[in-house]
Amino acid sequence: MKEFVYNCVSLSEEDFTQGRVLFETWKPVARYAWDAGIAIGRYLRELKNGRLIGVHCPNCGRVLVPPRMFCQDCFVPIDGFVPLQDTGTVVTFSICYIRWDMVRLEHPLIPAVIAIDGASPGMGILHLLGEVKPEDVRIGMRVRAVWKPAEERVGAITDIRYFKPIE
Ligand SMILES: [Zn+2]
Repeated sequence: MKEFVYNCVSLSEEDFTQGRVLFETWKPVARYAWDAGIAIGRYLRELKNGRLIGVHCPNCGRVLVPPRMFCQDCFVPIDGFVPLQDTGTVVTFSICYIRWDMVRLEHPLIPAVIAIDGASPGMGILHLLGEVKPEDVRIGMRVRAVWKPAEERVGAITDIRYFKPIE
């Protein structure tokens, strides 16, 4: 019986950046504008200004983050935006030693759900932790946003580099 030997190699970031995959044969001309909507649009503009905001539900009184135009519990429109702190508490986290393209990372990424101060319980955002050793991360750890300098911000969640522990 013939034995097959497979040489399987997963695609890497370099395969895309150096054009070793077939997508180079088709150059799409995709010109379009995308509207983030009222709630997320405002959220992104405030991120550019170095601020986190949520929205308030007039029925249950909760402060929701990320912002949305209605409360998903009450099915009523929100009645305004609420400034939040750029501090919070780690609700859950993971330690990632492998990149999306299966390349081992020397320094692991630590994605975490962070309950933002000023928002209601159960309201949080997903972001990265930094300036902390993986073995030192704990649920309940207090953290603060580390912002990019104002001139580098573009109105994206990555305007926050990561959250670091509050000493
Ligand atoms: Zn509500």
